[in-house]
Amino acid sequence: MNVYDSARMADVLAPLGYGPADHAEEADMVILNTCHIREKAAEKVFSELGRLRKIKTARAEAGQRMILAVAGCVAQAEGEEILRRAPFVDIVLGPQTYHRLPEMVAQAARAGGAVLDTEFPAEPKFDFLPEPLAQGSSAFLSVQEGCDKFCTFCVVPYTRGAEYSRPATAILAEAAKLAQGGVREITLLGQNVNGWHGDEGWGLGRLIRALAEVPGVERLRYTTSHPRDMDDELIRAHAELPQLMPFLHLPVQSGSDRILAAMNRGHDRDTYLRLVDRLKSVCPDLALSSDFIVGFPGESDADFEASMDLIRQVGFVQTYSFKYSPRPGTPAAAMDQQVPEPVKDERLAQVQALLMEQTTRFNHSCVGREMRVLLDRPGRHAGQLLGRSPYMQPVHVKAAAHLIGTVVNLRITKVHPNSLEAIPA
Ligand code: SAM
Ligand code: SF4
Repeated sequence: MNVYDSARMADVLAPLGYGPADHAEEADMVILNTCHIREKAAEKVFSELGRLRKIKTARAEAGQRMILAVAGCVAQAEGEEILRRAPFVDIVLGPQTYHRLPEMVAQAARAGGAVLDTEFPAEPKFDFLPEPLAQGSSAFLSVQEGCDKFCTFCVVPYTRGAEYSRPATAILAEAAKLAQGGVREITLLGQNVNGWHGDEGWGLGRLIRALAEVPGVERLRYTTSHPRDMDDELIRAHAELPQLMPFLHLPVQSGSDRILAAMNRGHDRDTYLRLVDRLKSVCPDLALSSDFIVGFPGESDADFEASMDLIRQVGFVQTYSFKYSPRPGTPAAAMDQQVPEPVKDERLAQVQALLMEQTTRFNHSCVGREMRVLLDRPGRHAGQLLGRSPYMQPVHVKAAAHLIGTVVNLRITKVHPNSLEAIPA
């Protein structure tokens, strides 16, 4: 989502004459687009601001101005604190107001002190953003934002606000524009992307069906989904639409019912497993990835083992795993029985080792298989191109440069530590 938001900020600023710079030292403006999901991510902002302050001072001494802005969820949650701890920052803006960046830049240029805009405006920012510029053959498209689910560990409902779905017409128009610009693969984005709903009762499955008909769109993905919002129509889309890639990121967070309840996830282990069964029964080559939190308050060894067991049972081919990070203002941060750091470290290492094993096994099972690969860039070696398999694995192949931006049939021949090797099928 932050990658998408950063690209849209660049779109908004382009008419003012701003374009991307390679290094902060050369930049008239630096925007830090920040994440508040875990403490480590939030703390990084302040260390990065320290580094940028030096660059800003050096530029000022050389008679060059640098506008420094902090955007994103840390700005939303800690706007005042940023201005207190880093008074050299010119602009602080939340994720819902970046369409107003040009005004903020003008205000900052008038040097009237720092500009702070962390409102949740009544009119959604999407109504004010210019058309996106297509870059490359794969693009993100934000369809939904915010969250009403209030998992007890999570800051998203506070920083991104209530659930909002963009209208289908706007999404279809943006997709058509991207496809005309050469995009072949679109990943639909949302904090609860499958909670998307449009007018006339459309759900995400119906939207994906309409997107599959947009000329030029060859591949569709969506992330991140919530198990509670996986409805029949979306499951059917996996069975019926070849454009919808057979790879689904479906976070579960824990394999223990006790912990899932304390997390306020609104589903238990069995419901999740039944959902996976339904998905795999309609789409047998579906592979799943997930998110796990280890060391949630009160997580016992047995609860943790239940997560390990679920990872084996579902056979996730990839997973993001995190140590629980207490976030200010969330219910879990105030819970008793916080798990000691060394225990979290040990559990994280175990989860990651198991997942590494499963990812490697899956990669090896791909050898000999034919796959449709979207070639999207030159490889590291001459005459080589790099692309993505339906399962998001990086694949390299010897192929002519004009094939960049096309989907080709390849046969996987070898597994490397971070990629697969292939030959034309
Ligand atoms: N909406 C998605 C869902 O319900 O699964 C997740 C979106 S959240 C932005 C991304 C991931 O960050 C979560 O799935 C969770 O694993 C992780 N996360 C969120 N809050 C966390 C916390 N306080 N500590 C550790 N990990 C956290
Ligand atoms: Fe956070 Fe996802 Fe839970 Fe919403 S559903 S509170 S975004 S983890």
